[in-house]
Amino acid sequence: MIDLTDVHAGYGRIEVLRGVSLNVPRGTVTALLGPNGAGKSTLVKVLSGQLRATSGHVHLGGVHVNDASADDLARAGLCTIPEGRAIFPNLTVAENLRLMRGDPEVVYSRFPKLRVRHRQLAGSMSGGEQQMLAFSRALITDPAVLVIDELSMGLAPVIVAELYEVVRELASSGVTMLIVEQFAETASSVADDVVVMAHGSIASGDLASVYFGGTS
Ligand code: ATP
Repeated sequence: MIDLTDVHAGYGRIEVLRGVSLNVPRGTVTALLGPNGAGKSTLVKVLSGQLRATSGHVHLGGVHVNDASADDLARAGLCTIPEGRAIFPNLTVAENLRLMRGDPEVVYSRFPKLRVRHRQLAGSMSGGEQQMLAFSRALITDPAVLVIDELSMGLAPVIVAELYEVVRELASSGVTMLIVEQFAETASSVADDVVVMAHGSIASGDLASVYFGGTS
């Protein structure tokens, strides 16, 4: 469903992704780990069509991302939650959801806290609630492929557990997910597959050698 072959990408003359190959089958969750600066957010940008690969193939559900317009990607059911959450802080929870043109009831029944706070300005909610809202804005679009940068960044473990419960539910209903995660333990407890990016490509070898020095 998500299929990358030998993808290279970067910013101007700086090459960040140096031959990334990755396959995430339909209805599964892959967690992407890696040290700061490894290129994880750059990969998310390539998958969302925000940054073009300079070479290699990027396919999402049969759509060739490099040739696709934003509309094509939306039609293919791609939804991305970027790092920093992409919510409108000066709009209320209800307004943030309304902008996504879906049924907010789907969200309110999953996250009752958001129903209670539907009139609150999104920017005045806690980090966990804001992430719940960002996640909900994605859910409402009924995505086929969900790419999330730093889902658990700065959140209390109880919120992370709640969000990952929804991730598992989505996967069992057929949604394909790639999630950038900071914590190896969290990632391996929820993902079908855990991959590590280092120096712009998917590292082989075990997690410890990537994080604590080694040959990979
Ligand atoms: P982190 O975990 O710290 O978010 P990351 O693995 O997501 O890191 P990226 O954000 O993809 O890493 O960054 C990879 C490299 O690309 C870094 O060296 C970064 O400085 C560089 N980079 C990122 N964005 C740009 C940009 N817009 N222009 C130039 N270089 C950039």
